[in-house]
Amino acid sequence: MRKKKEAILKVKNLTKKFNLQDGRTLTAVDNVSFKLFPGECLGIVGESGCGKSTIAKILTQLETVTSGNIIYNGKDITNLKGEELRQNRKKFQMVFQDPVESFNPRMKIGDIVSEPLLNFNLMNKHEAKAETKKLLKMVGITEDFTKRYSHQLSGGQKQRVAIARAISLNPEIIICDEATSALDVSIQEQVIELLMNLQKERNLSYIFIGHDLAVVRNISHRIIVMYLGQIVEVIDSDKLVTDAIHPYTKALLDSVFSIKMGNNSEIEGIKGEPPSPLDIQAGCVFCSRCTKCMDKCLNEKPKLKEIGRNHSVACHLY
Ligand code: SF4
Repeated sequence: MRKKKEAILKVKNLTKKFNLQDGRTLTAVDNVSFKLFPGECLGIVGESGCGKSTIAKILTQLETVTSGNIIYNGKDITNLKGEELRQNRKKFQMVFQDPVESFNPRMKIGDIVSEPLLNFNLMNKHEAKAETKKLLKMVGITEDFTKRYSHQLSGGQKQRVAIARAISLNPEIIICDEATSALDVSIQEQVIELLMNLQKERNLSYIFIGHDLAVVRNISHRIIVMYLGQIVEVIDSDKLVTDAIHPYTKALLDSVFSIKMGNNSEIEGIKGEPPSPLDIQAGCVFCSRCTKCMDKCLNEKPKLKEIGRNHSVACHLY
């Protein structure tokens, strides 16, 4: 892994709670800390509702934090506002599961890609047009697509356009939130290969969020495993299969080859459903489904402890 000493991004004790109309509080992200290094792809994996997409929205400042800090290149960007926030958005770009949601259906592909360049006054229309062709070529989309509309493109082509748009502002960090989940397996592989090539060419840092451990492992250098808003294990991707020890990570690994594993479906190998984020117990968040649950687990929350190089786990067994 191309790691440099200084992290490009430090997330410290990030918590996000939503106050519901009925007076209850939903904890989506609970005291999460991690670092992202230049040129690294950090995977975040977990079931639907584990908080991974909320983290993505907070990092791209589509959501505010309840508490905690986000440090980017040494600067606290947690509560940026106005023009400072707008300028910072150039450095953090996001690729969503369904790119169409972020495309204006009345805009042609060429305009969709050149729009950020013009919005940020980075170039004039003529220059933006030339840059758009260059960006589209980089992601494998030919020039004739600039005049088409998004509904005329396949799923893979749309995602390539979304990636071209994401890199147009020369960001340092791209957050891919289930970016390949809706694609057929062969197209998924092509998009992942494209992301990996762009990462090398542009020294991009990625946060790659997904529910499919096999896909996330394929692209990531390190993996964060989340459960009910908390990090339960952090491990190098190449050590995942041999060294992962958290009961939840192991259950996820058991389910990798299960065709039953969908975005919202129950994971094979783990009994029951995750408890409601409205009803988080005092002890370990996984205890209601863990076959190794002990008395201590019911009352005491395990801390995320470093147990080896690039390996941390939150479990009373270790
Ligand atoms: Fe299971 Fe206890 Fe470890 Fe939680 S702390 S994962 S309940 S053994």
